[in-house]
Amino acid sequence: MKIIVCGGAGFIGSNFIHFLIQNYPDVKILNYDKLTYAGNLDNLRDIENDSRYSFFQGDIADKLTFQDQVQKFEPDVIINFAGETHNDHSVHGDTMPFVMTDVVGVNVILDTVRKFKIKKFIHVSTDEVYGETEIDDTYRFKEDDPFRPNSPYAAAKAGGDLMCRAYFESFKTPVVVTHCTNNYGPYQFPEKLIPFFTFRALNDQPLPLYGDGLNVRDWIYVLDHCEALMVLIEKAEPGKWYNIASQNHQHNIDIAKIILKILGKPESLITFVEDRPGHDRRYALDTTAIEKDLNWKPRHNDFEKALIETINWYKDNIEWVKKLEKKIGKFNPHIKI
Ligand code: NAD
Repeated sequence: MKIIVCGGAGFIGSNFIHFLIQNYPDVKILNYDKLTYAGNLDNLRDIENDSRYSFFQGDIADKLTFQDQVQKFEPDVIINFAGETHNDHSVHGDTMPFVMTDVVGVNVILDTVRKFKIKKFIHVSTDEVYGETEIDDTYRFKEDDPFRPNSPYAAAKAGGDLMCRAYFESFKTPVVVTHCTNNYGPYQFPEKLIPFFTFRALNDQPLPLYGDGLNVRDWIYVLDHCEALMVLIEKAEPGKWYNIASQNHQHNIDIAKIILKILGKPESLITFVEDRPGHDRRYALDTTAIEKDLNWKPRHNDFEKALIETINWYKDNIEWVKKLEKKIGKFNPHIKI
């Protein structure tokens, strides 16, 4: 299989490339990534000389460059992880990069898939497009629930997803869209909750929790997400949408407490800060479709065990973090502690 991985230098994309290299001897990968602040080629240092892997620095919204790479590489499959992904930046910063990558960039990929008759396009999206579950605290969004995004990030992702729907309905472009919950694991840029809290706790710094800390997220180990995506590459019918989740629902405050417990640090490090606008209370997804139709289930079901492994990975790869230190000044710049 020849596959273009857009956004392969980010958190999930680099885990997906490692997963392919470890499990698919005949794979050929082109990692097409713009290398924004979140793109990090150090995530792929160990496999950069593997003959199955190549890298090109490019923007998915740059149609000429992207199509040139696709024409040369002749992929069977394109998978898109490229995204502006941080809610805080979309609420407090410039929203235009979100629109350019998450809407215009996706549109360029769709046009390209159509033009070069690529066999399959997997577009990786987020549970945040559904908005928060208001119906009751047990409701789980289904694939055909309406979109009600509340942050510019979620709205931009929803825009890209709707473009995928329209290309399938109008042109039969072979696209599969996924909506996944919060991922954790190695190589996550330390502006996101779990690595952010881990490093602050390691340095005895306060852990800033938005609001009352009772927002609920469903946490999936990144390798379970990668396995689900591979199942979709192999088995999903074009035009289908799939939710991906592990039904591991946690309050943010409990994540903070578990991290502090694992690291032997006091709960007094938890500090409550003013909530972010448009901060959804709870996300939850129904995953019957991918489990019943395609026989996928998450394998990392012991959250505390997988979290300990994740935290140990960050502790063992402190050099990886240190090299990001210049960018670390930008992490959650709007939180005043
Ligand atoms: P990330 O921020 O770690 O990585 C994004 C990558 O995309 C970076 O390498 C960046 O350089 C690249 N990129 C950004 N704009 C680009 C562009 N215009 N052209 C080419 N490359 C570009 O993101 P992530 O956490 O790995 O998430 C990957 C995808 O999965 C995103 O689309 C996100 O919406 C989705 N998702 C993430 C999570 C999560 O918990 N991390 C959960 C559900 C869905």
